[in-house]
Amino acid sequence: MKLIFATANDNKAIELQELMGDLIQIQSLKDLSFTQEIEETETTLEGNSKLKAHVVFDAYNRPCFADDTGLEVEALNGAPGVFSARYSGPNCNSSENMALLLKNLANFSNKKARFRTVITYRDEMEIIQFEGIVNGIIIGKGRGNYGFGYDPIFIPDGSQLTFAEMPLEEKNKFSHRARAFEKLKSYLMDKLQA
Ligand code: IMP
Repeated sequence: MKLIFATANDNKAIELQELMGDLIQIQSLKDLSFTQEIEETETTLEGNSKLKAHVVFDAYNRPCFADDTGLEVEALNGAPGVFSARYSGPNCNSSENMALLLKNLANFSNKKARFRTVITYRDEMEIIQFEGIVNGIIIGKGRGNYGFGYDPIFIPDGSQLTFAEMPLEEKNKFSHRARAFEKLKSYLMDKLQA
C-alpha cells in the first residue's frame, strides 16, 4: 500500500517509514514534487491537520494523511498550541519562541504542559483523526542539543531529562508524534487485514 504523508519534512517522513515497515510505502510531498505551500489557516490542530489532508487528497485522489502538533501550556490556557511554530511572530525561530514562552510563564507556579499531535487520515471512503499526547513540565532554562522546537525546555513525565537531552530513539519511545503515528499504524494494519 502506498500512502501520502502531507509533509515536506524529510525527517518526519523517514521516522514514519521506519515505524510502518515494509507493508506501507510512505510518499512525502517532496517525493511527489508537490511544491504548493499549504497555508495553515485554521485555529485548532484538528482543523489544520484536516485542511492539509483535504488539499493533498484533492490533488492526488489517493489515501493520505497529515499531522499538526502544538505545545499546550496549562497556565497559559493551552497557548502556544496551534500557534507553536510562530508564537513570537511570523518569521521567528525556536529560541525566540522559547524566550517568549518562558517570559509569559514566569509568574505562574503551574508549569504543566503537553505536546499534542493530531493526525488526519483521508481516503475515498473516510476521514479519521488520531491523537497523541505526552504530558510534562516546562523548565526555566533550556537544556540539551538534540531535537528541535521547544525540546530544550520540556521534560516529559517520568523522566529527568528534557527532550533535547534524549537521542531521537529515546524521545520516540513516548513522544506525542510517535503515539499518534502508532495509532495510525494499527488502524492501517487492521484495514489491510480486513
Ligand atoms: P508541526 O505541526 O509538527 O510542524 O509542529 C509545529 C510546531 O510545534 C513546531 O514548529 C515546533 O515549534 C513545535 N513542535 C512540534 N513537535 C515538537 C517536538 O517534538 N518538540 C519540540 N517542539 C515541537
